[in-house]
Amino acid sequence: MIVLGVESSCDETGLALYDTGRGLLSHALHSQVAMHEEYGGVVPELASRDHIRRAIPLLQQTLDGAGIAAADIDAIAYTQGPGLAGALLVGSSIACSLGLALDKPVLGVHHLEGHLLSPLLASDPPEFPFVALLVSGGHTQLMRVDGVGQYALLGETLDDAAGEAFDKSAKLLGLGYPGGPAISRLAEFGDPTAYKLPRPMLHSKDLNFSFSGLKTAVLTVVKKSGVANVCEQDKANIARGFVDAIVDVLVAKCVAALKQTGLKRLVIAGGVGANSQLRAALNAAAAKGPNHKRFRVYYPELEFCTDNGAMIAFAGAMRLSINPDAARRDYAFNVRPRWPLDELKVI
Ligand code: ATP
Ligand code: MG
Ligand code: FE
Repeated sequence: MIVLGVESSCDETGLALYDTGRGLLSHALHSQVAMHEEYGGVVPELASRDHIRRAIPLLQQTLDGAGIAAADIDAIAYTQGPGLAGALLVGSSIACSLGLALDKPVLGVHHLEGHLLSPLLASDPPEFPFVALLVSGGHTQLMRVDGVGQYALLGETLDDAAGEAFDKSAKLLGLGYPGGPAISRLAEFGDPTAYKLPRPMLHSKDLNFSFSGLKTAVLTVVKKSGVANVCEQDKANIARGFVDAIVDVLVAKCVAALKQTGLKRLVIAGGVGANSQLRAALNAAAAKGPNHKRFRVYYPELEFCTDNGAMIAFAGAMRLSINPDAARRDYAFNVRPRWPLDELKVI
């Protein structure tokens, strides 16, 4: 069965074709980062219009890449939510119109389920059950995953998401948008002893996070250094202080979640999962300690950490393998900009 995936929840237009027999056939992506950069963040109206412009050429590119015709598609999965309403509507309307024109069923997919399942697209995928750390631009959640559609929330951020903390702190350092990768690169040159920033909720007994205080701490040191004329080395030192703090908290909470659930597999999903310092610290923690304390960490391929169509095609295909009736010939545009992941049902 060949599933077309359509992603348009935010500022990436992603199209992909996943075959339940042969795996990922092809995928194409357009990132709007350059367009939103001058505004310092995503402008929803511009995002929607750009999705409209990009979707059909990307669809053609994906079909060409797979060497198939549109008529060969068996079902169409699109991101139904959560995300920007206007942007989601573009993906939904394209998926539904295509479905109607081709007489194929459509299926709305939860964007975070796409992120969560994306490590299963890698060559050495984890088996269920596992603990998942979802660290993206809009979410920071620890989840127990027992199977497709079986997600139990263990803890989440009480304020900013990890990606948001990366982006806001990077902005304070004048690093542009989105600043996650830039602040990470700069941190490599920083002195880890120069700034010791707070590790919010590190010792709280639960699995929740809070990152807005860390961003404020960055603001305070930037101000102290004299906003406009922070020298390059000082910027790198602040970046290093920030990255070390956020990585410490994320790793500690993952280890605590593994301890609480007794599980040995940890999956990282979402854009911040591309972060090299986080990966290095998690790998070190996984290898440490006596055998019974060791665990294994699974990551998505780097290109599938941030938003993409492949994870949506894959999540749709997984759902359809369990329940072929999950896709319907119901072509009413249908989006859910707000949609908690644990509301998803086992099919
Ligand atoms: P959500 O999925 O919650 O709706 P989103 O789709 O915007 O949010 P993603 O595309 O998964 O989020 O990830 C984007 C985020 O990942 C941005 O905040 C970006 O700064 C961050 N990010 C990407 N690469 C890195 C990196 N190497 N280091 C740190 N952060 C990174
Ligand atoms: Mg994005
Ligand atoms: Fe995302």
